[in-house]
Amino acid sequence: MTSITRRPLSQRTLTRRSLTLGLGAAATFTAVSPPAAVEAAARTAAALPTIASRKVGAIEVTAISDGFMDVPFGVFTGAPAAEVEAAFAARFARRPNGMHQMGFTVWLIDDGERLVLIDSGFASVGGPTTGRLMTALAAIGVEPQAISAVLITHMHADHISGLVIAGRPAFPNAEVFVHRDDVTYFTDPVRARAAPELLKSSFDAAARVVTSVPRLQRFDRERALTRAISIVDLRGHTPGHSGYRIADGGESLLIVGDALFHPALHPARTDIGIAFEPDPAAAAAMRQRLFPQAAEERALIAATHMPFPGIGRIVRDSGQLTWAPADWELG
Ligand SMILES: [Zn+2]
Repeated sequence: MTSITRRPLSQRTLTRRSLTLGLGAAATFTAVSPPAAVEAAARTAAALPTIASRKVGAIEVTAISDGFMDVPFGVFTGAPAAEVEAAFAARFARRPNGMHQMGFTVWLIDDGERLVLIDSGFASVGGPTTGRLMTALAAIGVEPQAISAVLITHMHADHISGLVIAGRPAFPNAEVFVHRDDVTYFTDPVRARAAPELLKSSFDAAARVVTSVPRLQRFDRERALTRAISIVDLRGHTPGHSGYRIADGGESLLIVGDALFHPALHPARTDIGIAFEPDPAAAAAMRQRLFPQAAEERALIAATHMPFPGIGRIVRDSGQLTWAPADWELG
């Protein structure tokens, strides 16, 4: 049985150097004309990564925004686009361009012995507003070589494209863990040829992963990967869609990938999914099982596409399941 390799501490280079320098530079009081100051501030803001860290026991979990993409409301299934749009508008989440801004969050887990990524983002496959992971890692002093493992929730393009950049593994020392059923599904040549347009990038990305990632570990079932990280069966969104539970010191965080998309839809509507789901009934069944269970367990949850940093809980309010974002913790 394969578990995640431990790497010597000397390979870990977690510093906050870049961020500190950036803030220091912004804090000087040089006299400049307002337009130049505004321009400089805009450049600085664009260059800074969007990250948020919190502790789960002694483990540091950092949410990193890989970027975003505007998506039409018609991409959601199970309800008419107008009904979905109204639900977003009621939460002030309908953009002026008539679309939903979907974010992509990647998670960095630092357990003191190793650095582990959950998913790898969209890279440039999602266009100019995605693929910020590598810049963000550089900004917090994490070299790609220091990543011990990448745990994949599923093989859609927005989760695996960052594994292979320009034909080479982006994290050369990492073992990449993914459910066997997703590998089988997304590398099936017959399915790849018959895939609808919006799924083609996922089949292409999966082909790049199996060709270029040297240490791909396919798993079949729930099990522990380290003392603190274990696989959770969340099949439904894709054939091998998986969650990861981070647990330490009596606290835990369940990273659920694409089980929830936005508070306008989830957890209230388990019948609403997304057009990328090959088996909508299986996806709905996963949501029907997970949402009440998570509410019962009062589980802290992280989801890729929920508004950044995507961490919160499913709570029961007057018989209805709703999303309660986790309060920001300082220090
Ligand atoms: Zn996704």
